[in-house]
Amino acid sequence: NHQIRLAARPVGLPKDSDWQRTEEPARPPSEGEVLVQTLYLSLDPAMRGWMNEGKSYIPPVGLGEVMRAGGIGRVVASAAPAFAVGDHVSGALGVQEYATLSAKALTKVDPALSPLPVHLSALGMPGMTAYFGLLDVGQPKPGDTVVVSAGTGAVGAVVGQIAKIKGCRTVAIAGGPEKCRYAVETLGYDAAIDYKAGDIRKDLRTHCPNGVDVYFDNVGGDILEAVLAQLARKARIVVCGAISQYNNTTAVKGPANYLSLLVNRARMEGMVVFDYADRYPQAVADIAGWIKEGRLVSREDIVEGGVAAFPDTLLKLFTGENFGKLALKVAD
Ligand code: NDP
Repeated sequence: NHQIRLAARPVGLPKDSDWQRTEEPARPPSEGEVLVQTLYLSLDPAMRGWMNEGKSYIPPVGLGEVMRAGGIGRVVASAAPAFAVGDHVSGALGVQEYATLSAKALTKVDPALSPLPVHLSALGMPGMTAYFGLLDVGQPKPGDTVVVSAGTGAVGAVVGQIAKIKGCRTVAIAGGPEKCRYAVETLGYDAAIDYKAGDIRKDLRTHCPNGVDVYFDNVGGDILEAVLAQLARKARIVVCGAISQYNNTTAVKGPANYLSLLVNRARMEGMVVFDYADRYPQAVADIAGWIKEGRLVSREDIVEGGVAAFPDTLLKLFTGENFGKLALKVAD
């Protein structure tokens, strides 16, 4: 069982010496446990936060521990009545080829509903984040202008498409012409802003002439600052993530222009997807329905190479090299 463990707390971007590669036999399941073979691992920006010491919404990964990761796997041995050999499951498998976990920590996934990687994407944690972050926190109304940063990413792409389904005007912010084209042509955004190319403040004024009613923020930093300058009255900012800040070696850069919230009677609210766990079935049903009707696409960026490729592949999230939900293929 190949594993990747956290060896050191990174400063800035994680480097190879922050990881330790280990090999040990998989542990057979005890009563109530299941042995799962990892098929796909989800690579998430949040992983960078889990590597840091300090208080967050979830404890950090301990030094020497297998790196935490969500994944999809196949049951290869079961000592729990709820799971049979051959079942497909999702759960916190960790960056390893086999995981022995309590049956309570696993959820069955139906490979007939959609291909397995989609269960890590629009039907998985990113899709849940998009659904509840937009609908519960963002509260979009038909005709609202909804701006989404990292607008073609795993979360952002689903946000943009749901906002469109709900009758909003949608604007993506993304890096590079290829992602911007995809945003408009495939994801149905009304406009896309390439933050690497132009003057984002000017582009926001052009594409959001009546201001931004909902800003779904995946990025933080300078882009958040630019959107604050273009808020509509009663705007809602969903603080989903701040990927531009995760590898900072200095303090997180907060918005200097927060008084725009005062002037515009706006609000900014954080969300953590796990708070909505009891409502996931409704979101899965809605998103699966939209996929079936051809109104929502899920795009995955699957990297081959097994757990050994984890350290390098994770970095793609921070350079924008991923195009869609980043996942690592570990086995067939
Ligand atoms: P994505 O698939 O969107 O991948 C990350 C993308 O972020 C990159 O492709 C890149 O897109 C963009 N990016 C990276 N660095 C920068 C930067 N410095 N400035 C601007 N854009 C940058 O990842 P996810 O969809 O998985 O995650 C998106 C966000 O959602 C993250 O902030 C994550 O932490 C957050 N999240 C929050 C959850 C919650 O419960 N609150 C749950 C899940 C995710 P581009 O090429 O367009 O620049």
